[in-house]
Amino acid sequence: MRYVIIGNSTAAVGGVEGIRKVDPNGSITLIASEPHHTYSRPLISYLLLGRTDENRMKYRPDSFYEENHVDAHLGVTVTKIDPEQKYVETSSGEQFPYDRLLIGTGSRPFVPPMEGLSTVQNRFSFMTLDDARALDQVLMPESRVLIVGAGLIGLKCAEGILHRVKTVQVIDLAPRILPSILDETGSAMVQEYLEKKGVSILTGTTVERFDGHHATLTNGTACDFDVLVVAVGVRANTELAKEAGAQVGRGIQVDGEGRTSLPDVFAAGDCTETMDLASGTTHVMAILPNAYLQGEAAGQAMAGRDAPFDNAIPMNAMGFFELHMITAGSYDGQELVWKEKDSYKKLVLRDGKLVGYILIGDVARAGIYTSLIRQQTPLDEVDFDKLKDHPQLLAFGPKTRAEKLGGVPR
Ligand SMILES: Cc1cc2nc3c(=O)[nH]c(=O)nc-3n(C[C@H](O)[C@H](O)[C@H](O)COP(=O)(O)OP(=O)(O)OC[C@H]3O[C@@H](n4cnc5c(N)ncnc54)[C@H](O)[C@@H]3O)c2cc1C
Repeated sequence: MRYVIIGNSTAAVGGVEGIRKVDPNGSITLIASEPHHTYSRPLISYLLLGRTDENRMKYRPDSFYEENHVDAHLGVTVTKIDPEQKYVETSSGEQFPYDRLLIGTGSRPFVPPMEGLSTVQNRFSFMTLDDARALDQVLMPESRVLIVGAGLIGLKCAEGILHRVKTVQVIDLAPRILPSILDETGSAMVQEYLEKKGVSILTGTTVERFDGHHATLTNGTACDFDVLVVAVGVRANTELAKEAGAQVGRGIQVDGEGRTSLPDVFAAGDCTETMDLASGTTHVMAILPNAYLQGEAAGQAMAGRDAPFDNAIPMNAMGFFELHMITAGSYDGQELVWKEKDSYKKLVLRDGKLVGYILIGDVARAGIYTSLIRQQTPLDEVDFDKLKDHPQLLAFGPKTRAEKLGGVPR
């Protein structure tokens, strides 16, 4: 069996490990545009912060490709998939035949048309190791940095560079920060915290026009800067799949085992649309755990074992300057809220089940809530009165407790 994988990040690594769980012998060829050993994208801000280095941010050890018998072609871009003849072609015209193909092409930064953007000399995205290296080269203690976009990527960038520059100004057209991750209370709390740390944040406004180091904002004010980071969103890399004839919406459409509509072609990670168990809708869920689990399920299916990943939920575990937060699921339902000065907790219930939560500050034992959502546990089967205040395994019955601990029911 010849497996070909496009990509070298979370979904691709999941794919390799999924295949090897089932098939120790088939040949795996991995092809990826980025020339680096597989690394963890979320760590690029910590690289700039100095909290990690390029060696420690590797997603798997140096021995990964060799140990898994992977023939890795790094720094090579795939330009075409031929699903009839079953091969992929690279930009140099080289062809790699496959029996099963995994597309793990992820996403790329979305840069909307902005007047005068080409007049800005120091402009960056913040998605890859190369982006972080490039930013690293230009940041000076006297730099004034403008970040357009107050989502996870823009704010992680702010955290990574604040200590190295004179000012960081974040702006976003949305009325609040992290709008797709937090609710209004959570956004306000995190914004206040970031501002106390020294990040300036302006919401409800964006850039009307750039002119060199000068940005005119839509709220009538202006901002002078030396370095610009555009982090307004990402778009799934679906073109290869689409041109090959696969069904594609905002992401490549796949089933629980990662099968696309093309025979023997699978896809996983940020380039796909996933069924969201918490909201019951299908959408692109650009988060790391999802990419890995999808990749792993696809890898196993490619090698002949069906082990579907069918309990995906949106989930984010993140921190800014030591303020930790974990969110999961959907916020559509009955809310239970606890708010104190430095912590916030919201649980969302629907149809007798927990469907979502936000934890800011005290995030210990969030896994218990996540597990209730993923397993769709009816709350009348657990001691929810205990769980809502203090998540703990004791609130489950003995059988479930043992399962969650990985032991034998007693
Ligand atoms: C700054 C930052 C912070 C983040 N923080 C978090 C977080 O806290 N929590 C969380 O869950 N997620 C976070 N994420 C998102 C997370 O990194 C992604 O969900 C994850 O990397 C997706 O993995 P993937 O393998 O699907 O795609 P990607 O990581 O995007 O990898 C795509 C791969 O495909 C290759 N590729 C693309 N096109 C081609 C082609 N044509 N030919 C060959 N190779 C190609 C690329 O080189 C790359 O190797 C963060 C992302 C960033 C940028």
